[in-house]
Order: sequence, then structure tokens, then C-alpha cells
Amino acid sequence: MKMLINGRLKGEEKIEIRNPYNNEIIDKVPAASKEDAIEAISAAKKAKDEMISLTAHRISEALYDTSQELKKRSKEFSHLLALDSGKPIKAARDEVKRSIETLKLSAEESKRIYGETIPMDAGIGGKDFMGFTIRLPLGVIAAITPFNYPLNLAIHKVGPALASKNTVILKPSLKAPLSALKIGEILNEYFPPGAINVLTGKASIIGDEILKSEDIDKISFTGGFKTGKMIAENSGMKKLTLELGGNDPLIVLKDANIEKAVEGTIRGSYLYSGQICIAVKRIIIEEKIADEFVQKLVKETSKLKIGDPLDPKTDIGPLINEEAAIKIEKLVSEAIEDGAELLYGGGRNGNLFEPTILDNVKPSMRLVKEETFGPVSPIIRVKDADEALKVANSTCYALQAGVFTENIHEALRFASELEAGTVLINKQSTYRVDHMPFGGFDCSGMGKEGVKYAIEDMTRTKLIIFNKN
Ligand code: NAD
Repeated sequence: MKMLINGRLKGEEKIEIRNPYNNEIIDKVPAASKEDAIEAISAAKKAKDEMISLTAHRISEALYDTSQELKKRSKEFSHLLALDSGKPIKAARDEVKRSIETLKLSAEESKRIYGETIPMDAGIGGKDFMGFTIRLPLGVIAAITPFNYPLNLAIHKVGPALASKNTVILKPSLKAPLSALKIGEILNEYFPPGAINVLTGKASIIGDEILKSEDIDKISFTGGFKTGKMIAENSGMKKLTLELGGNDPLIVLKDANIEKAVEGTIRGSYLYSGQICIAVKRIIIEEKIADEFVQKLVKETSKLKIGDPLDPKTDIGPLINEEAAIKIEKLVSEAIEDGAELLYGGGRNGNLFEPTILDNVKPSMRLVKEETFGPVSPIIRVKDADEALKVANSTCYALQAGVFTENIHEALRFASELEAGTVLINKQSTYRVDHMPFGGFDCSGMGKEGVKYAIEDMTRTKLIIFNKN
């Protein structure tokens, strides 16, 4: 597939994109040069005036039409996602459904970019004045996205950006770039040339141009902490949204409904092999009920089917590449050497890693101190709820957190004291609907996404004052 620059498909297809399941080449994409990046940025800058001249009604229709085109081509997109990201087809279909929804939300929100009236006379000196605000686009937005939800996370940036009359440079991950290139092509049919540009290639080449360009007004980044920090340190005065990693806890208190907690752990630890920012990465459980929980978790985990993402029965596909699988293998064996007990799984076959349960994990182990992006359920036993809270808050990540308890007092205490952008009661952290405010604190980043909230961060407020005299 080709890149999209200034409304035209461009670039020699030379970087091989491989299927993480069998390593077969599925397509090739261009390697953007410095000049390509400069051309895309200047096209996006030039397209700003035309975008601003469009009515909200016209933009809304364009986003809606794109959503309908994606709906028509759902099968093709799900297949592509399963091929390039290695996501089991069931999960790939869900991602496409959500992407349609995110585009529809963008179409709706593009009609609701309101300002407010300011009661000027509420202040000394405000008599005889009338004031109101309007919201304006920022200009050119660079959207940098990760491999794990390559379609929906791209749309979470591009949808709100176009909805608020910005123009966009989209840089998807080279690990799974195909769906972003394809959605770019569709959007390009409905928007002016240059409003949406998609660049593939070496992150450092494209990234350098984005970081140093004075024509980019905002970087909206989703990805790992290390990359996010580097971007924050090198982006000058550009506005930033950083949606970074997570180390989300699933806390099971002694009065929890254990079946519900097990079900939440299965979905949270193993969906897309745990390669999700809001995957359950630590299970913190009160000692009193840990044996019963663990027994049920092992039983349910043993029912999962590992294999080809294109097989509708597959629950667990490959990790994105062998390097990622080897990293998980290392973290698991290091934890075992340090005293954790392997209850299930632990095996690796190429890029495939078995769903793995480790008991008696200590908070100091790398497996739970860092963000582990794999199908692992590390169980940390604690003596009581106070210790659970302390352990949960002991990492620098603060994305989402789930607490299972039937005790309303504990639920309220954890809701207020857990360090997380979202606290879920009786639901695992691996939960998102696309209109909710989404985003973490501290090492998990800054700013919110969720279409309405992303639009807030992609617009600036201008105040207009009338002298009535
Ligand atoms: P990554 O940080 O390696 O890459 C993310 C993007 O940054 C990719 O497009 C990559 O090419 C680009 N990039 C890398 N170096 C760059 C540079 N020098 N300049 C500009 N861009 C550069 O992350 P990944 O492995 O693709 O994704 C996994 C990470 O993303 C995990 O940490 C996960 O938790 C996080 N994530 C967070 C959210 C969220 O909403 N908070 C959602 C999904 C994934």
C-alpha cells in the first residue's frame, strides 16, 4: 500500500509487513523520507483554510459517510487487522465495530462545538459589555499511534481532529500500519486534499520532522512511556496529549463475587494476548480467598484456545513479534527464579505465548513493576484491603483500575483512593466505550481522549466582547 500525501497516494512500497502468526509477507509500505514528511506537513498547513471554510454540517456528513463506508467494508478491515496485528478475528471484528462508532461519534460531536456566553456584568467594570466565546481549530495535528488498536486509536485522533476542522498527519506504527493507510484513503475521498495525510516509515525520520516543525500545532501521541517522554521533552511549545502505558490492577477483596472476578481476569489478562494499555497486569487479592480464586482461574484459563488469528475459535493469537514474546518469556522466568510459582502456561512457540498464571508474585518483581505486554496473570497475595490499596498504588502508572467487592464502603474508599484515571467497581480495567473520557495520570500520560474530550483538547477558545454603548 502507498502513503497519502496532499490527497495523492505516494511512495515506493519497500518495507515488508509480516503476519505475526506465520511470518508471511502480507504487504509492503513506503519508507517516508525527510522530504515526504516536509511535503505532508506543508500540505496539511495549506489545507487549513479550506477545512475552516467547510460548514460543520458538511464535515459531519463526511465523517458519517466514512463510517458507513467502513461499515460496508467491515469484513475486509477485520481480515486486515487480524493479518497485520495478529489480533484474533473475533477481537478484530470488535475493533472495526468500535471504529465505526468512533467515526459516528465524531460526526455527531462536530455539530456540538459550542462556546458560551459570559455574563460580563458579573465583574467590576463589566457593565455595558456582552461577551461570548467561540472554539477554533488548533491547525495541524500530528497523530502518532501504536500497533495494538491500529484502526480505532487512529480514528480516535483523526475523527475528533477533522470534526473540529483541523488537518492531520497520521503516523501509524510500522508493526501494523495497513488499516490506518486504508482508512486514510477513504477519508481522503470525503475531505479536501491535504486535510488527512498518512506517513509510514522510520519513526525517527518522520518523528524528527514532526517534532521540529513549527507548522504542527499539536501532537496527539498514544504509545509507550519511553517514546511519550522523549516526545514531551523535544516538542517545544506544541500542545500535547499523551496516552501512555498502564499497569492496571485488578483487586479482589475478601467479600468479592469470585466468579465475576475470574471472568474479569480472563478477559483482562488475555484479550489480544494482554497487549492492551488497559489489560489487567496485576491481580491483587486478599489471602483469605486467594486459593479459591486461583483454582477457578486455572480451570477457566485452560479452556482458552491458542492459534491462528483467522480461526474464529482462537482466543489467543501471537504477540506482535518474536522480540515481544521473548521479553515476556524472560520476565516470567525471572519471576519464577525469584520465587513466583508457575500454575499454568509459561511456554513459548515462536511468537505465540501461552496464557500464564503465576502465584505468589511480589510487587518488587519486574513482571509487575514494569508494564508487561503479554498474556500473563501475576497474582499478588495481600493480607487485607489496606495492603491491597498500597500495592495497587505502588507503580508510577495510573491508567485504569478494577476493584471487585460487594462491600459498598470499600468500593467507595477504593474509588477515591486508587491512583487511576478511571476506577471500575466490579469490572476489570479492560473496559472502554468510545465516548467516555479516557486517559491516565503520571506515567500513563496527560490529557483525555473519548471523542468529545479529544475535541476539547484540539480546539482553542476565543473570547469576543461587545461594548453595548
Ligand atoms: P511505541 O511507543 O513503541 O510506539 C508508538 C508510536 O510511536 C509508533 O507509531 C512508533 O512508530 C512511534 N515512535 C517511536 N519512536 C518515535 C519517534 N522517535 N518519533 C515519533 N514517533 C515515534 O508503542 P507500541 O509498542 O506501538 O505500543 C504499545 C504501548 O502503547 C504500550 O505501552 C501501551 O500501553 C501503549 N498504549 C497506550 C494506550 C492509551 O490509550 N493509554 C493505548 C494503546 C497503547
